[in-house]
Amino acid sequence: MLIDFHSHCFPDKIAQSAVIKIGAKAGGLIPHTDGSLDGLSGFMKQQGVDSFVVLNIATNEKQMTAVNDFAAEMNKREDVIAFGSVYPRAANVMEELERIKALGLKGVKFQFDYQGLYVDDEIMKPIYKKIAQLDLVTMIHAGFDYGFAPPYMATPERIVNALRWVDSPFIASHWGGLSCAENVLKLLCGLPIYFDTSYGYGAIAMPSAQMIVEKHGADKILFGSDCPWHSPEEEKRLIESLGLSESEKEKIYHENAEKLLGL
Ligand SMILES: [Zn+2]
Repeated sequence: MLIDFHSHCFPDKIAQSAVIKIGAKAGGLIPHTDGSLDGLSGFMKQQGVDSFVVLNIATNEKQMTAVNDFAAEMNKREDVIAFGSVYPRAANVMEELERIKALGLKGVKFQFDYQGLYVDDEIMKPIYKKIAQLDLVTMIHAGFDYGFAPPYMATPERIVNALRWVDSPFIASHWGGLSCAENVLKLLCGLPIYFDTSYGYGAIAMPSAQMIVEKHGADKILFGSDCPWHSPEEEKRLIESLGLSESEKEKIYHENAEKLLGL
């Protein structure tokens, strides 16, 4: 059983152009899929993934409803667990969080570099509180984002600062912070949050990944790829290289995700 906790796709009409644009912005990434849900689903099956979390981001107020409607539509499929997203500065952000819950979505994704605020911006305090009240999961892009110049909006230091407002499951993606392994080890490991393994292959040094699993614990790490940018096979190869026990790997590959999402 393999659950991929971090993947992306786009509505058919814009899928092709979206992956080309995002890939170019991130420095010439070549997508593994055509950007569509069918493309993603086919690729996941081929890679041995049983179900996958699909993440979209509302990068402005106007887009927010459509992003969550798309997530709800995708969520009807057997192999898909779609998360919603809110634009934190939207006037109706609280109502939209309630709608996300009503639509049956299990979590909310933030990408603060695209959304133009820090993970620990004061504006986020009531939003995290509302998410906890609604019993939703928070997932954030953590660490560097190669599509943007520094400063980055969700570094380990800022995540620690934001966590005083968070009382619900919180996932810092990309091993706790892309290109931030040293501070992840120093500041985030051991805290009651999850990391996903997405975009790790070739980006995190194998000894860093080993130390993170050891210090943070395999029961708070979720398998994820960041497909279409990385493939599940690549991320599995990294995890298989870490010398973990079978039971640690089972937790990472699916058991933690099942528990967290109530599957
Ligand atoms: Zn991603």
